[in-house]
Amino acid sequence: MDKIVIIGAGIQGLSTAYNIARNNSHSEIIVIEENKVAGKGSSGRSGSMLMKSRENVEKIQLSLYSFERFLNFENEFNEHLFLNQLGFLSLVNERMENRYKIEHALRLKLGVPSIVIPNKDIGKYCKGINCNDIKFGLFGPDDCEINPNQIISAYERQAIALKVKICYDEKAIDIVSNGKNILGIKTNKGLISCNIVINAAGANAKDIGSWLGVKLPIKNTRRSIYYVESESTKYNSGPMVEDAEIEWYYRPMGNQKVLIGMGLEENLIPTDGPNMDFLPEIIKATKYRAIDLYPFKIIGGVSGIRSLTNDKLPIIGPIDEIEGYFNNCGWGGEGIMHSPAGGTIIADWINSTNNYPFDKRKFLLNRFT
Ligand SMILES: Cc1cc2nc3c(=O)[nH]c(=O)nc-3n(C[C@H](O)[C@H](O)[C@H](O)COP(=O)(O)OP(=O)(O)OC[C@H]3O[C@@H](n4cnc5c(N)ncnc54)[C@H](O)[C@@H]3O)c2cc1C
Repeated sequence: MDKIVIIGAGIQGLSTAYNIARNNSHSEIIVIEENKVAGKGSSGRSGSMLMKSRENVEKIQLSLYSFERFLNFENEFNEHLFLNQLGFLSLVNERMENRYKIEHALRLKLGVPSIVIPNKDIGKYCKGINCNDIKFGLFGPDDCEINPNQIISAYERQAIALKVKICYDEKAIDIVSNGKNILGIKTNKGLISCNIVINAAGANAKDIGSWLGVKLPIKNTRRSIYYVESESTKYNSGPMVEDAEIEWYYRPMGNQKVLIGMGLEENLIPTDGPNMDFLPEIIKATKYRAIDLYPFKIIGGVSGIRSLTNDKLPIIGPIDEIEGYFNNCGWGGEGIMHSPAGGTIIADWINSTNNYPFDKRKFLLNRFT
């Protein structure tokens, strides 16, 4: 019988616990979370978008698998999934043109709807946008707003129903090994012996890997989101709109509220309210692109960490050096939307199943060496 400890009750840690447990009744599974509740890390600080990715084949495959699972959410969790299919429009300038043309072709090849919108037609999708320097828009009609807290709660509830033990308010402080095998983890409450540890610690994953000498090539960047009210009604409906080059975006939230997001600040801590230090950058980008959205009144906001790898793919699976250690981290800006895939890939490694239909070896840490 395996004894499995998952470090982190973010959306990935809980998806992992649930997906292992649904095909494995003989192992003991424990989740350790330093906060008093789930989802207090990056998972509770997101822009809440479920998208079909672009960029590369592996990412699109993560999306295809995850999207299907989300569409089956009601059968799986006996609960209706909140989905607001508003679509996602990327505004592409000359510098981004080649990349987005390649990604558009790749999406179509893999069966993902992707529509090129000529500059002159962008106004039919969104109003009050400066398109002077924009070559074309790329529209993903399937992309949706979701509620990450709903998904986190569903994973947590089902995991507990499958006898997963979740220990809140307990912090992992070390991993114990004999250099070849995992022996346990140390927490602020004592030693837990186990033969498998899964590092799903989000922004802390790099530090946790270092306890075993595992180097995770992850860069932590801070992104900020602001909830605003504007006198202009032009931004109250339509798709989520992003400036592809600077990754500034807005999304209508209903009730005349708009969410604005941006940020690639390195090695800074998250803020629980709106990040006022980054506000001048947001105002500058907003005034340039969404010409009537500013002035706005800030009514809320938050900032959080996106843990990015160089190839923008997560790090999922075992490592060669130490048996029983698994990574599930480096999810960047896509850990919510790809949570079904992340948990399933780890479950496949541990349970020797093949539920993830694509090549899971592409996410191994050894791709960097
Ligand atoms: C502003 C912003 C917008 C985003 N928008 C989107 C979006 O629209 N769609 C999308 O899919 N993704 C989005 N993301 C990315 C997404 O939020 C992350 O990829 C995802 O939340 C990562 O989940 P996780 O479970 O790996 O990490 P986390 O949610 O950070 O979970 C890690 C958990 O580990 C715990 N932990 C850490 N160290 C320890 C320890 N030593 N002991 C015990 N517990 C520990 C933490 O407390 C935390 O709960 C966004 C991110 C940001 C910041």
